[in-house]
Amino acid sequence: QAKARGRGVCCVFTAEMDEQLRARIAMEADLRKAIDERQFELAYQPIYELKSRKLCGFEALLRWHHPERGLVGPAEFVPLAEETRLIVELGESVIRQACMDAVRLPGEPRIAVNLSPVQLIFGDTVATVRDILNETGLDPARLELEITETALLANDHRNLGTLKSLKDLGVRIVLDDFGTGYSSLSHLRLFPLDKIKIDRSFVRDMTIHSDSAAIVTAVAALAAELGMATTAEGIETLDQLDAVHRAGCTEAQGFLLGEPQPILQAAHTTIFGPISSERSQTTAAPRS
Ligand code: C2E
Ligand code: MG
Ligand code: MG
Ligand code: MG
Repeated sequence: QAKARGRGVCCVFTAEMDEQLRARIAMEADLRKAIDERQFELAYQPIYELKSRKLCGFEALLRWHHPERGLVGPAEFVPLAEETRLIVELGESVIRQACMDAVRLPGEPRIAVNLSPVQLIFGDTVATVRDILNETGLDPARLELEITETALLANDHRNLGTLKSLKDLGVRIVLDDFGTGYSSLSHLRLFPLDKIKIDRSFVRDMTIHSDSAAIVTAVAALAAELGMATTAEGIETLDQLDAVHRAGCTEAQGFLLGEPQPILQAAHTTIFGPISSERSQTTAAPRS
């Protein structure tokens, strides 16, 4: 087709594609090197139970300390790590590090780890998690595995089996970013879920649009009926915190309550509550 448009066009295309390909290959090599050289680190964001106002866990979030580019967030490298399947190896190291850290954290908080659908499909996730639990001695009930609805769609049957086997290990399965993907109520019945995380787009809108508040309230009620907890993601204001509490969510997470933080700071949080900072007046604790 490009040929039909003439020689010049064809050359532009190939030059562009060549550049893209080169960038991709460079990034892939960078990723490979980063795994080998352990340039990754986990940041832990606190999660609070709304009823007791107590810290109940942390979500482990991957950070890449790139030697030239500085701190790189997961949105920039997880997609490529998935395409190249490097996420299988990277994801395994995330689970291991998070479990090792969890054992050392005072107060026995839960630790949530994000699982890529690619890991579920191509990694031997059940054996990996079982081995890591044995190695670290972490109580399985303290490990939460966060999956997205994409993981439930792709390759339905195998993933369902994998999730059931994971659940049999005693870990908790959490549905992340609920409401953004191909949300299907049948997922809630079919998959062995312990908790739903309501996507922050709903939380953001609920103090502005009553529709969003109604959706959050309904999801929280449905989850409760099904015996599941609900975490409201992305709490940035006290109004949002009040709103999700009133909507019946059981847990809250967001910058207002605590940002993703290095492990040492997370350990401090388990003992002393949210870090005091300029925001300390508003971050003291969820209001009831
Ligand atoms: P996620 O699992 O939904 O994680 C929550 C994301 O929202 C995090 O972004 C967190 O920093 C951000 N966040 C938390 N509170 C607030 C808030 O109040 N306001 C706003 N605007 N954002 C908030 P992060 O760390 O950049 O991670 C983005 C996504 O990358 C994660 O979304 C998750 O899907 C993925 N990810 C992170 N770590 C891993 C990992 O170890 N493995 C895999 N497969 N994916 C990961
Ligand atoms: Mg998550
Ligand atoms: Mg999420
Ligand atoms: Mg998200």
